[in-house]
Amino acid sequence: MRHFPIFLDLTGRRVLVIGDGPVAARKAEPLRQSGAEVVIRARFDPADLVGCVLAVGADAPDEDVIALSQAAQAAGIPVNVVDRPSLCSYITPATIDRDPITIAVSSSGAAPVLARLIRARIEALIPPAYGRLAALAERFKAEIRQRLPDLAQRRRVLERLLTGRAADLVFAGREAEAAAEFTHVLATSEPSGGMVFLVGAGPGAADLMTIRAQRLLGEADVIVHDRLIGEAVLEMARRDADRIYVGKVRAHHCVLQDDINGLLVRLARQGKKVVRLKGGDPFVFGRGGEEAEALRAEGIPFEVVPGVTAALACAAQAGIPLTHREAARSVTLLTGHTKEGRLDVDFEPLVRLGGTIAVYMGVVSLPLLRDGLYAHGLARTTPAMLIERGGTEKQRELHGTLDDLVAHCAAWSTNGPTLVMIGDAIGRGVAWNNAARPMRASPAPLASLPA
Ligand code: SAH
Repeated sequence: MRHFPIFLDLTGRRVLVIGDGPVAARKAEPLRQSGAEVVIRARFDPADLVGCVLAVGADAPDEDVIALSQAAQAAGIPVNVVDRPSLCSYITPATIDRDPITIAVSSSGAAPVLARLIRARIEALIPPAYGRLAALAERFKAEIRQRLPDLAQRRRVLERLLTGRAADLVFAGREAEAAAEFTHVLATSEPSGGMVFLVGAGPGAADLMTIRAQRLLGEADVIVHDRLIGEAVLEMARRDADRIYVGKVRAHHCVLQDDINGLLVRLARQGKKVVRLKGGDPFVFGRGGEEAEALRAEGIPFEVVPGVTAALACAAQAGIPLTHREAARSVTLLTGHTKEGRLDVDFEPLVRLGGTIAVYMGVVSLPLLRDGLYAHGLARTTPAMLIERGGTEKQRELHGTLDDLVAHCAAWSTNGPTLVMIGDAIGRGVAWNNAARPMRASPAPLASLPA
């Protein structure tokens, strides 16, 4: 180890900063936040050093920072001069502030940019709520010591608290329940059960998941997932986590929803941390609502983590603005699911609204959709598109009018999850390569753009 790390208590202590530019101001700020009494001087005067516990040289003339460095070191005061390692007796790390937790990363000056990259990675792993968890632990500190005088036992129980349901409750913003869990574990040494997370995995690309979803995947004991979840996403899971597949294939539901609900409840009762992973967003045609109701009815705590829903991912990758000041003032997320061969859609207000319509599960009912929309006045020239496997590198698009899509869908489809999008905003789409969309005015020549 080239440098010895320590954390200084600067509360009420004097710190001298030399410089009169933006660097001095930037250096002074975190010192003030740590409670230091910061004295900023444009030039160095040895008298200013008296009573200081730390000195910083910033944007000041060379002779000043050299004199500062020498005087400080002679007086035994740690000194740092920005970007001048030879004048420093200490270096400042890249820090993550999760008050009261502080994480500091240093490359000992070898590669400060790398230290900052490492900080960014750690930042993603340690959510801001860790600060609240530490504060909660502090609240129970005396009680924990008193109830658990044995150090080894105290460590075991604390580890359980800080990684288990109590921590999950803090992260979900449920502090009162977290405090109750602390009390329960301290009384019994056992957690009172697990917790379920209804997590949106996004459209399939692992880096379109939220940071929260990634963290939970890395912590879960069990992952209960659907068909739409790709390998790239599942790879982020803890290696030894159990995976339970409860996917549904259209028409024959292989696991009944009631059974899934029951499974989630049972796993949580066993004390497991359960991630229920769903494609896109759990609350958009994902039956997340039913699972949440079942969990609430059984008194199992849960948290919902949103995901990038198919409509957003498809639109972004296809360069289609879902809303546009001139072309679409609303977005409707619609299900194309049919009941006894009928589409349960109120077409009249939908057409009157005149915005963008994104139809989930709409391929099978495409002819019914077209007939209903045209019968209620949708212009036959309105642009529409099919997007298959949107938000992944295998995305494919088929552009045209609804008539075109009905005519060519079967030959074009490769049976991946497909979204139907309808509306004038689609005509405002801009492809990544800036090429004009070939379909604008209709009847358009049918064109399929490669992904
Ligand atoms: N909860 C999911 C939707 C589940 S319903 C979400 O928020 O995205 C399943 C339907 O979603 C599919 O039939 C398809 O219409 C759509 N879908 C899901 N993923 C998709 C993708 N990557 N590309 C296009 N459509 C997708």
